[in-house]
Amino acid sequence: MAFAQSSMESFYSSDPVFRMAVKQFEVLADHLEIPQQYRQRIIQPKRSVTVSLPIELDDGRVEVYHGYRVQHHLSIGPTKGGTRFSPRLTLGESAALSVWMSWKCALVGLPYGGAKGGVAVDPNKLSRREMEKLSRRYMQEMIPFVGPRTDIMGPDMGTNAQVMAWFMDTYSMHAGHAVPEIVTGKPVAIGGVAGRRESTGRGVVFLVERALDHLNIEPAKCTAIVQGFGNVGSVTACGLAYRSGMKITGLSDHTVCLYDPKGLDVSAADRHVQEHKTLKEFPQGERVKPEDFLTLPCDVLVPAAVERVIHASNAALLRCRVLAEAANGPTTPEADELLDQRREEIFVIPDVLCNAGGVITSYFEWVQDMQSLFWTDIEMTDRLYRILDTAFNAVSKRSKERNVSNRTAAMAIGIERVLEAKRDRGLFP
Ligand code: NAD
Repeated sequence: MAFAQSSMESFYSSDPVFRMAVKQFEVLADHLEIPQQYRQRIIQPKRSVTVSLPIELDDGRVEVYHGYRVQHHLSIGPTKGGTRFSPRLTLGESAALSVWMSWKCALVGLPYGGAKGGVAVDPNKLSRREMEKLSRRYMQEMIPFVGPRTDIMGPDMGTNAQVMAWFMDTYSMHAGHAVPEIVTGKPVAIGGVAGRRESTGRGVVFLVERALDHLNIEPAKCTAIVQGFGNVGSVTACGLAYRSGMKITGLSDHTVCLYDPKGLDVSAADRHVQEHKTLKEFPQGERVKPEDFLTLPCDVLVPAAVERVIHASNAALLRCRVLAEAANGPTTPEADELLDQRREEIFVIPDVLCNAGGVITSYFEWVQDMQSLFWTDIEMTDRLYRILDTAFNAVSKRSKERNVSNRTAAMAIGIERVLEAKRDRGLFP
């Protein structure tokens, strides 16, 4: 792959997550025979911003945090993407996530490029007051670079509807009037939509059912293991248990991995986490080592936590029939090669498709805010499922016709659409 090394080195390439996004793209660019002249234009993020965020902590000390925002491409509309508050966040990780977001938006036909960003901070260590100060400071610093037609933020790991409300308020105070369309995933009272928080998990459940139907497997006879019990993981686990009728045999978060072949009580786990924040003291299931958790036997495996948890050392050991990638980037390219050899055994719903329910519902929220005309819940759920169904069918069809993996098919559709937009618009000036 003939990238000019200097430009790749400049900002992001030392980051392993960005290197992973580039490696995936290289495989796809070769597969699609994309001319060299277009490759850098497609993969390199358009704009990245790093900011210092000094805030006064409750004890009077001043702490300076680092914030990032990366906008991948603006060729078909504004960029769209989550804001992550996580101690591990880097510019490179934000860049990788913005790239994946672009493929995802293009795959499901949204008029957005991808973006991502956030603050390198452990939100569990901040009080509510400190969280508000940091959120407002972050948005204040971002005001020159974002806007409803430039870049729209949403929630991601470590942020929630309250953080979006603080972002919206900070931006609106600057504008002099309410600008609800600057963020998605905000509370309903200020222009959010009911069900946004649940939408990613609901989409995952819909696609798992779609995949099982494709494979002629009855959901009610299946077992499922879900890694991560936050927003996406908990909603997915509840949906798989109570909508699809599956037995949930494994649940985990960053504190513990629980397994019971007879099934865990997901709603009890949900109540426990609402009260105690984590699953650590949840009194059900056998405690298993994190490195053994994903290779336990199940029909449906859902990584819904962090990146790169399925790698060269465990991909050959997975014992599931469907791998539903609810998290972003859970599978490394090395693992993907191994999974490709097991295509007949394991049906992969790749992340760009599997967790697209969140950004689709965010798009609905943005459209409604822009026109100040709100849809009913039924209209939104119906539209969400129709878009996911169309994307699922397009991926399955392409995978079958071209004899490629679902991931290759999904990313190829997304990348081709971005390429087409860039070709149509031409190079400025
Ligand atoms: P969250 O912060 O609500 O929850 C994350 C969960 O993962 C927590 O339960 C945490 O304890 C757990 N976790 C963290 N590290 C872990 C580890 N090493 N092993 C096991 N569990 C671990 O975050 P979320 O919003 O649910 O996001 C989860 C994933 O889904 C991320 O990859 C995110 O980018 C992706 N995603 C989220 C949305 C959304 O709408 N929230 C949309 C698309 C994709």
